[in-house]
Amino acid sequence: MKQNLQNLQLPGIPLVLSGPSGCGKGTIVKALLRKYPELFALSVSATTREPRPGEVHGVQYYFIDRKEFEGRIADGQILEYTEYCGNYYGTPKKELYERTMRGINVILEIEVEGAMNIRRLCPEAVLIYVLPPDAESLEARLRGRGTNTEEDIRARLATAREEIRLLPAYDYLVINDDNPSCSAEESAEIAADRIVRILEAESRRVSRNLENAVHFFD
Ligand code: 5GP
Repeated sequence: MKQNLQNLQLPGIPLVLSGPSGCGKGTIVKALLRKYPELFALSVSATTREPRPGEVHGVQYYFIDRKEFEGRIADGQILEYTEYCGNYYGTPKKELYERTMRGINVILEIEVEGAMNIRRLCPEAVLIYVLPPDAESLEARLRGRGTNTEEDIRARLATAREEIRLLPAYDYLVINDDNPSCSAEESAEIAADRIVRILEAESRRVSRNLENAVHFFD
């Protein structure tokens, strides 16, 4: 049967977003979901850590206990997982596959180890690393939150220094600008637009369209 390439529903792309604590990832994810609700959905991870005030089961995370988490690993329900600060964090497989099959681009906001596992398990995923313009502004953002202790800020900066070594394994670097005339939300919207342009280009890769395009003359 002849293919009409215009009307084809292509699978969505798993989009991994990583970056140091304080880079503005969370605000960028919110901007993506707000501005482009038809294009993106967020992968909700499972975790064994306690919910923070205001966090809701099924929204920020699925909060489950260790026994349940380990059971889900054994059942093959968790695509990748890591242990971070004494707690499990993992990506549920079913939701990710179901949504990408429906053409939705699924955002996975996960740390670098998880990102490397996704690279191996889902070669079609796009890995984006988010950074502020320089190290000083990263530190200023962490201090500006006002919720982190000095020790915590030092620990987060040390982790960022370690994690940035894996930057070469990512596909794209998106800078979350520090424009003094913009609010954090406006800067995040600019970064979100950059991510959408990356995704547009990625969706046009020959490798993502080959199966349909080879039947063009059939
Ligand atoms: P937090 O406790 O601050 O919500 O998350 C701690 C870290 O776990 C963050 O770096 C976050 O990106 C990472 N994380 C959250 N969910 C997952 C997941 O499903 N897999 C992996 N590998 N990391 C995750």
